[in-house]
Amino acid sequence: MTPPVTITAPKETEEALCILDQVSADHLEWLKQVHRSLLFQDADPRPAADGRGVEDGLAEKVSDRTGDCHAALRRLKDARRDMEVTGRCLTGRAAEGLPVDPAGYMAFMNAVETYHAEGRRVELMLHQALAETDPLTGLRNRRGMMRDLRREWMRADRNRETCCVALVDLDHFKEVNDTRGHLTGDKVLAETAAFFLRRLRSYDQVFRFGGEEFLFCLPHTDIPRAKRILDRLRLLMARLPLLDQEGHRFFVSISIGIADMLSRTPPEAAVARADHALYLAKAAGRNRVCVAG
Ligand code: GH3
Ligand code: MG
Ligand code: MG
Repeated sequence: MTPPVTITAPKETEEALCILDQVSADHLEWLKQVHRSLLFQDADPRPAADGRGVEDGLAEKVSDRTGDCHAALRRLKDARRDMEVTGRCLTGRAAEGLPVDPAGYMAFMNAVETYHAEGRRVELMLHQALAETDPLTGLRNRRGMMRDLRREWMRADRNRETCCVALVDLDHFKEVNDTRGHLTGDKVLAETAAFFLRRLRSYDQVFRFGGEEFLFCLPHTDIPRAKRILDRLRLLMARLPLLDQEGHRFFVSISIGIADMLSRTPPEAAVARADHALYLAKAAGRNRVCVAG
């Protein structure tokens, strides 16, 4: 299975996939030219990509938390250089009227195969990342969330560290949609996600759990610390000015349920306990943080 890649810019990732498509078409054209030059000596194949390498441009588009996609792009660049160098040896000989060297040709075709395999790997990574990204907020969706939570759970257990999860739900969000329209509702969700990312620590993770619910994973954090961090976040959120389509200012509060990950119970159980704590926060009047018992 390909490793997860975090994408904060789904639009750019879609663009990266389009570029990869174009690169693949250019590559096929170049491969045709190489074969024409070997068979009929009537073509002058130029490298399909520019000198700097299209892979560097792709790396700039993809925001990659794990570094796996950037590493795959570097391998793709190396494979392309290898293929171009072996290809140039063949076409150079052909241009001088020399016969095609079978060993050189096989080395070239092996390099072509490697290049194809690396390109396919990058493409799969980007597709998987897109499938695990929520287009509205740019956050990771529920699809890849459990795998990330399981990884954090195992890491915490291995290092004997504490780790908390929190379920966050926007209060009376239906009312925002009903009175100010769905477009404003969508904007609130996107702005709230960006606010969470800005306010939490760089190693915390934020997922769109579904609808107007978010899930946080807070590594190296025990319950009292999580409660402090999230109470502060809750107070700041209630003061975050939001604007509707008419330019009217309004505010949205959040309710939060926290649970710690326990070493002998899987992360799903922590999420279920956080969900119950969230239910208690709602029942107690909203705009508050509750801790799972
Ligand atoms: P509570 O305080 O109990 O959480 O009340 P609530 O109104 O927030 O909860 P409820 O479950 O009744 O409504 C959630 C609303 O969230 C309903 C749904 O239309 C809205 N919603 C879910 N996903 C989206 C979305 O992607 N965009 C918009 N605009 N609204 C969404
Ligand atoms: Mg809800
Ligand atoms: Mg709600």
